[in-house]
Amino acid sequence: MKELLSGSLIDLADAVRRGDVSALEVTDVSLARIDMLDDLGAFVSVARDSARDAARAVDQKRQRGQPLGPLAGVPIGIKDALCTVDQPSTAGSRMLTRGFEGGTATKPYVPPYDATVVARLRAADAVMPGKCNMDEFAMGSSNENSAYGPARNPWDTTRTPGGSSGGSAVAVAAALTPASLGSDTGGSVRQPAALSGVVGIKPSYGRVSRYGLIAFASSLDQVGTFARDVRGAAAVLQAIAGHDARDATSVDREVPDLVAACDRGVAGMRVGVPDEYFAEGLDAEVAERVHQAITGLEQAGATLVPITLKHTSSAVATYYIVATAECSSNLARFDGVRYGMRVEEGADIEQMYRCSRTAGFGDEVKRRIMLGTYVLSAGYYDAYYRRAQKVRTLIARDFDDAFEKVDVIATPVSPTVAFELGSRIDDPLAMYLADVYTVPASLAGVCAISVPCGLGASSALPVGLQLVAPAFAEPTMLAAAAVAQEQAPPIHKDLAKRLER
Ligand code: GLN
Repeated sequence: MKELLSGSLIDLADAVRRGDVSALEVTDVSLARIDMLDDLGAFVSVARDSARDAARAVDQKRQRGQPLGPLAGVPIGIKDALCTVDQPSTAGSRMLTRGFEGGTATKPYVPPYDATVVARLRAADAVMPGKCNMDEFAMGSSNENSAYGPARNPWDTTRTPGGSSGGSAVAVAAALTPASLGSDTGGSVRQPAALSGVVGIKPSYGRVSRYGLIAFASSLDQVGTFARDVRGAAAVLQAIAGHDARDATSVDREVPDLVAACDRGVAGMRVGVPDEYFAEGLDAEVAERVHQAITGLEQAGATLVPITLKHTSSAVATYYIVATAECSSNLARFDGVRYGMRVEEGADIEQMYRCSRTAGFGDEVKRRIMLGTYVLSAGYYDAYYRRAQKVRTLIARDFDDAFEKVDVIATPVSPTVAFELGSRIDDPLAMYLADVYTVPASLAGVCAISVPCGLGASSALPVGLQLVAPAFAEPTMLAAAAVAQEQAPPIHKDLAKRLER
C-alpha cells in the first residue's frame, strides 16, 4: 500500500478516477504513515476527520458518476504558513497559538478562509491530511526555528531536512504524502527538496496566488510544490497556478500545460553554466554530482554554454536586507490585538505589545524584525535598503543578460548536503550562507526547480541540481528537469529500506 504514496501521483489520481483504489483507502494509508513516522516531525497538526471526510466526498462523486479532478484522492501536505479553514495555521510560531503544552499547540489559530492554493487543491479533488512543519514564519534554512521542534531528515535523522519548508520535504521524501505545498522566499522549497532528495519548484513570481499565505517578504514569497518526480510536482503546480484577483501581484497570464511540457526533451536547448556557482565554498561531492547531471543534459542533446552572473556574490547580503525589511513590516500585525497571542501584562498598551511580541516570537524572528527595522530607519535607509534595491536590479539584469544566450541555467541548490541538526543554529551567518545559490533567482523573480541528482560520494546523502528559467518559462524549466531526473541515478530504494518499521 505504501507504494501508492511513493509512486507517480499522476498514476495514483488515475487509479482513484478508475475506482481501482478509493480516495479513502489512500488517505488512510497516508494517515497511518504520518502516525508511524511521527518522530520525523514532518507534520505539526493532523486533520484526520476532515481529510477522511474529503476523501469520502471524492469517492461519492465517483460513485455518482461525476468527473473527478486532476488530483483525485491525492493526499497533499500543506505548509503550516498556508491558511486552511478547517485546520490550524500557525506558521510554525507560538505567536499564532495560546502557547504549548507537551509539544502541542493550545488554541492554535484557525483562519476564517482558505488560501487560494488550498481552495484550488480542494477543487482538484486532492485531500489534505495535515499541516507541515516549518521554520517560524518561514525564516530559516534548517527547520530548527520551529516552535514545534525540528523536522528530521529521513536519510539521517540526526540531520536537517533543510528549511524553511522542511516538513513539506520530509512528508514527500518519507512517502507520507505523494506531494506537498511549501513556500519559497529565498530557497525554502528548493533547498529542503535538495537536502531531502525530492523535487521542489519555486514558480515565477506572480505565477501562483499568495492570498492566504502568511506573509514573510511579499516581494519574494511564492508558493511552491514538492513531489517525488518532476511530473508530479508539475501536476500540482498546474492545479494551483493562475491569476487570482485577490492577489494584486498574481499575473493574468494563461498557464500552459505543465505536465505535457515535461515530455519536450532538451534537444537543442542551451544550458548556461555560471562560473560563480562553482567557486569556493562548494563541497566537492556536491560539485561532482551536479557536474554529472549537467553532462547528462548535454548527452541528451542540450548545448552547454559558460555564462557569468556577476553580482552573485552580493545576493545573500541583498536578500537579507530586502527580506528582513519586508518582514519587519509584515509582522507588525502580530501585536496581540489584530493578530497573535496577547500577554496581558504591564500598565499600558505599549507594554502589552511588548510582552505579547516577546512571548510570541522566537529568536530568529526577533533578530530579523530588528534587522529589518534598522535597515528601514531614517538614518540607514539609503545606505542599506535603497542600495539593496539597486543591487537587486543588477542581479535581475544578470539573469536577463544570461537569458539572451541560454534557455535555462544549471547550478547546485545547496553548497553542502544536509548538515547536522544543531551545527549552525548558533551561527546565523553560517545558516544564511546555505542560501547562496537559491536567493539570486528569488530576487530576480524567475522560476527555478530542484531535482535530485544522486547521492554524494562521501556522505551518501542527496544532492540537488537547480535549473533556473526566465519568468513564466516554467515549461522550459520542466522539460530540462524531467530529462535531468531521468538521467540521474535513482535514489529512493535505499531510503525506503531505511524507513521500514
Ligand atoms: N533560508 C532563507 C531565509 O531564512 C529562505 C527562507 C524562505 O525561502 N522562506 O530567509
